[in-house]
Amino acid sequence: MKTIGILGGMSWESTQTYYRGLNEGVRDRRGGYHSAPICLISVDFAEIEALQRAGDWDAAGRYLACSARQAQAAGADFLLIATNTMHRVADDVEAAIDIPLLHIADATGQALARDGIRRVGLLGTRFTMEQAFYRDRVQARFGIEVITPEQDERDFIHEVIFTELVHGTVADGSRARFLSIIDGLAQRGAQGVILGCTEIGMLVQPSDTTVTLYDTTALHVAAALETALDDSGVSDL
Ligand code: GLU
Repeated sequence: MKTIGILGGMSWESTQTYYRGLNEGVRDRRGGYHSAPICLISVDFAEIEALQRAGDWDAAGRYLACSARQAQAAGADFLLIATNTMHRVADDVEAAIDIPLLHIADATGQALARDGIRRVGLLGTRFTMEQAFYRDRVQARFGIEVITPEQDERDFIHEVIFTELVHGTVADGSRARFLSIIDGLAQRGAQGVILGCTEIGMLVQPSDTTVTLYDTTALHVAAALETALDDSGVSDL
């Protein structure tokens, strides 16, 4: 089994979901006492959040490049960045390491393509919804049109992520507005909606809506399990 590198702590609330999902996945597939070999580099989110707010993506890229080298040196065979937003600096991370980076937008795009989705809604931080790095990758690599909520809705989603979800707060009122935003995207022709922030799955579940949801955390975990459990070329200890 391969060792999974994770750059986490962004936020630690969602990193817990990765940790649990990876271990449950290995247990379910391998049984017995098996669990996931993981090298987790967990950052101080306050430092990352300040760089995001300042728009200092170069410094953020250097920060995560350094964390990625630590994960590689600790024995990771491949790497996950456990946040959609910080894929803004995925190129810097990839350039710093020799192991593969399993990109969250690719894991998502593959699931969308498999389901034949042509137009999809995207929820996430303001950075993920409004900048090109995520949207353009899904559009360019998978030929899927990505639409985002209206400005006031994007502001609301961003606020909920940063003032509630990353602190572990899950509020019914926020869930109700998220669901109405998801309905609005479906009315605009979205055949599904990407939960493009690794904490949104804490708030909204597939059973809450008839719109098909693509939870990036779950899809990233599933893709990581495929890679980790593909033993070709790796000898188990
Ligand atoms: N975990 C979130 C994401 O997937 C937001 C936290 C961050 O800004 O990194 O984008």
